[in-house]
Amino acid sequence: MPPPLGGRPGGAPPPPPRATAAGLSTVIVEGELVGGECSYWACEPSKALLRPALLRADASRVPGLDPAAAGPLKTAAVLAHRDRMAAHWNDDDQVEWLKTAGVDLQRGHGRLDGPRRVAVTTPDGGTVHLRARHAVAVCTGSGAALPDLPDLAALRPWTSREATSAPQPPGRLVIVGAGVVATEMATAWQALGSEVTLLARGTRLLPQLEPFAGELVADRLREAGADLRFGVTVATAARTGGEVRLTLSDGGRLAADEILFATGRAPRTGDIGLETVGLTPGDWLTTDDTLTVTAVPGDWLYAVGDVNGRALLTHQGKYQARIAGAVIAARACGSPLDTGRWSPHAGTADTAAVPQVVFTDPEIAGVGLTTVEARRTGRRVDVVDYDLGHVAGALQHHPGYRGRARALIDPDRRTLVGATFAGPGVAELLHSATVAITGEIPIERLWHAVPPFPTISEVWLRLLETYRDQRGQATFSRTQPLAA
Ligand SMILES: Cc1cc2nc3c(=O)[nH]c(=O)nc-3n(C[C@H](O)[C@H](O)[C@H](O)COP(=O)(O)OP(=O)(O)OC[C@H]3O[C@@H](n4cnc5c(N)ncnc54)[C@H](O)[C@@H]3O)c2cc1C
Repeated sequence: MPPPLGGRPGGAPPPPPRATAAGLSTVIVEGELVGGECSYWACEPSKALLRPALLRADASRVPGLDPAAAGPLKTAAVLAHRDRMAAHWNDDDQVEWLKTAGVDLQRGHGRLDGPRRVAVTTPDGGTVHLRARHAVAVCTGSGAALPDLPDLAALRPWTSREATSAPQPPGRLVIVGAGVVATEMATAWQALGSEVTLLARGTRLLPQLEPFAGELVADRLREAGADLRFGVTVATAARTGGEVRLTLSDGGRLAADEILFATGRAPRTGDIGLETVGLTPGDWLTTDDTLTVTAVPGDWLYAVGDVNGRALLTHQGKYQARIAGAVIAARACGSPLDTGRWSPHAGTADTAAVPQVVFTDPEIAGVGLTTVEARRTGRRVDVVDYDLGHVAGALQHHPGYRGRARALIDPDRRTLVGATFAGPGVAELLHSATVAITGEIPIERLWHAVPPFPTISEVWLRLLETYRDQRGQATFSRTQPLAA
């Protein structure tokens, strides 16, 4: 069974026992580094840059620690830590992991070459032809989507790759965008000493998330010294004498040392032979919940990870790889698929419970629906808000804690369908919400999940009490059976 095209994390093969049990062999085709974007230019290096920044921000608010914590970060040490976390852009360890998992590796650029076939252009210019008995999984990920500005090559802008691997903080950094990459990189580089100016097209940061998330992050970025400008885009941009010079849509002018375009992602499908199987190069690959590409007959082509556009996050790509692996193995054995909601052959979580943490100051952690999404899709939800600063555990975290939590409850099924937490240290709260949503735990039962005192997780109790106060005393008096 060739590929995945593209090596990990979305391209993680089915776990060896499953593949072995099904008698399948697997080869990964990788054109760059085994481990993909996450390991070298995304999650790992960005979180390594952010950890000291967030820890310093937290520590500087704790009595007794503040003077010690408020000083400048040791840039060289932070960057050395980042380099280690990106494995010095060397994939030897991951190649070793592939070997122990019994997966073959073919280096080179892979292209589909008709049904079940892949042609690989090898680093020495040769061609290797692979033929799959069962399946080909396209796991080629996504790359930065750049705006349509003239002479972009001469501008030499940063994308997320340069922003996560730069050898030094730039003196002045302009960031175009307001999403996760823009806000995380603004947080990191401002903390490392750059003067950051962030240009947002819309009226707020993190527009896909609950509005309070972007507001809290904007406040903290401003306090850290970043210049945030809203309702503005780049009209012209040029690099002159080593300096980036911009004119803005509002007529303003800006100069900087580097410019980062954090303006979205595009699927890496431009040169992977999609035309040989009747698909359009450059398109996202649409799949059903079994991760099978729906527009190609024969149930042999799968798309896993960013490239299918379902949820552009490492953990979702790995989840999809587990589901796709089970589907491929079942089909190879001639076993029937079990594709009902939350079944072994359906990636239900992609549409019901995608957890995401934004590692800004403060952290933002969300899973499932937001009010923005509920409004967009016409879904009826009860919205419950609570000020995290009133939770005893948050005040133990540090005095003056600022944060907020929101729960979305399906009023008919009486289960949680969405949760967002914004505040220092909330990332680790998120999995409890993910479990509540995927388990479809009735709120009557959640009432009995006692949060320990004094932790930030007491916000669960406060949210439920607030819901009871909104809905009346009878809210938790009914005993409902757990969802099947
Ligand atoms: C700055 C930044 C920070 C992020 N932080 C997080 C985070 O904290 N948590 C999180 O969950 N997600 C994060 N993400 C998202 C995460 O990086 C992606 O969701 C994830 O990398 C997608 O995995 P993938 O396997 O689909 O694709 P990729 O990781 O892009 O891997 C695709 C692989 O395919 C290879 N390839 C492509 N085309 C070919 C070809 N034709 N032939 C052979 N090989 C090919 C590539 O070389 C690459 O190795 C972040 C993204 C960015 C940009």
